[in-house]
Amino acid sequence: MRQGQLYIDGQFLDAADGRCFESRNPFDDSLSGMVARAGEADVDRAVHAAHHAFHQGPWSKSTPEQRAIILGQIADGMKGHIARLVRCEVADAGATRKKGVDDVMSTIAFIEEYAGIAAGFRHERPGKSPGGLLRYAPVGVCAAIIPWNFPLKMAAWKIAPALATGNTVILKPSELTPLSSLILAEIIAETDLPAGVVNIVTGFGAEAGEALTVHPLVDKIAFTGGTHTGRRVMARAAQTLKRVTLECGGKSANVILDDADAEMAIDGAVYAMFYHAGQCCEAGSRLFLPGTRHDELLERLCDKVGRIRMGDPALKTTDMGPLISLTQRDRVQSYIGLGQQEKARLVYGGSPPEHPPFDQGWFIEPAIFAGVRPDMRIAREEIFGPVLCVLSYDNDEHLIDMVNHTDYGLAAGIWGADAERAGRLATRMRTGTVWINDYHRFDAHAPFGGFKQSGVGREFGEEGLMEYTETQYVHIGQEHTKELRGRFKTVVPE
Ligand code: NAD
Repeated sequence: MRQGQLYIDGQFLDAADGRCFESRNPFDDSLSGMVARAGEADVDRAVHAAHHAFHQGPWSKSTPEQRAIILGQIADGMKGHIARLVRCEVADAGATRKKGVDDVMSTIAFIEEYAGIAAGFRHERPGKSPGGLLRYAPVGVCAAIIPWNFPLKMAAWKIAPALATGNTVILKPSELTPLSSLILAEIIAETDLPAGVVNIVTGFGAEAGEALTVHPLVDKIAFTGGTHTGRRVMARAAQTLKRVTLECGGKSANVILDDADAEMAIDGAVYAMFYHAGQCCEAGSRLFLPGTRHDELLERLCDKVGRIRMGDPALKTTDMGPLISLTQRDRVQSYIGLGQQEKARLVYGGSPPEHPPFDQGWFIEPAIFAGVRPDMRIAREEIFGPVLCVLSYDNDEHLIDMVNHTDYGLAAGIWGADAERAGRLATRMRTGTVWINDYHRFDAHAPFGGFKQSGVGREFGEEGLMEYTETQYVHIGQEHTKELRGRFKTVVPE
């Protein structure tokens, strides 16, 4: 079992009031760690450390190249702890071994990619008006609040762009999955990053999370989590007009066109929905089948889902592990009951297996509802578990109406042979990402985020980096251009 402390100002500390909390393995409810429970006083200390490091320390004045070196050191440090990080994501977050390996390796690759992005970031650019130049200054103290479904990845997705642009950070991981962030703290402590630039506080949303959202010295909140929480975070952050980016929930549409290759499309639909037991914000949880091929495709789908191997996430052969908690399983079960009340047809699964090894943890069989209508609650609300809603469409207009009939707008998938038609449909979808003949594809250069109530702002790409900067316009009067050329030599012409 791991013991974890807070990481504040380069030091590992207990909570000021000495409190701890348990982190448990969702496979068998065993204890996976005991970690410090940050309260308001600890958050205040972490924020002051980040504020001091930003205003008094060298980090915010460092060059893009220096930032890239530190990001490279973090990635290299992680390479020395791969097996440990994978074990941690499996035991603490219920990731299958395959997902755990993918999470750790892709996180390392992502940070390395960001090191390159940081090195190439042009933080001073010529303006369009004579004598004008644009500076992209760091926002300042950034609080990163993240969920439990991809704990290590999400930590990196916040920390890397914040560091690449010269900010300081306080990371608060989910109370359900605090352990990989603490390994990350150990790794960061071994790099040349100045103390106080990254601080990690483990604790609960209602305590540590809330304290961050109203702290006057926090300049930006970068939040990933549920839409309901996102609304509250935004409202509280509004008291001090913090910059806020939100990556929230989804109810993403995955569309199979009538000319799609059935095998590829059904494989894609199963991957889109059931990866990590449906606990992905962008999960393709509404599957749209053409009326003309509905029965054939549904039969293939049930057959394919029947081959998902549910089991101990630590085993290499397991495709689907448990849900994160008993609360989450209860929630998913209540939605399965709701779907039946709404008269959707449960055509596959949906029960919690009660025999060993499943009886100690938070398992539920994958579930498929057919005959779902767009106004049903199971089609409109995020379930965040392995429950797929199948809807049938008559033509492209009918399809687009239903795809966009949602408060969410995170992602969508289209499977079909006619690229021109798929592209045309993509432009009519009100979502931040559309994958064509692919799904769950993330890239440090590809902006990701939500339309509508799926979020505010973007992660990744130049757009994502800009979210961690403030634009400063500097005007240089003609008579001073010469003196200032030295200071702004990258952008003031000779
Ligand atoms: P959550 O909203 O319950 O919690 C997310 C984080 O917010 C946790 O660290 C939690 O402690 C903290 N928090 C909770 N209440 C808070 C408050 N009042 N003030 C400040 N912080 C608070 O979400 P979750 O259950 O951990 O994660 C699942 C949700 O996250 C799903 O809705 C999913 O769609 C979403 N998600 C979105 C993305 C994306 O990129 N759009 C990615 C992953 C997950």
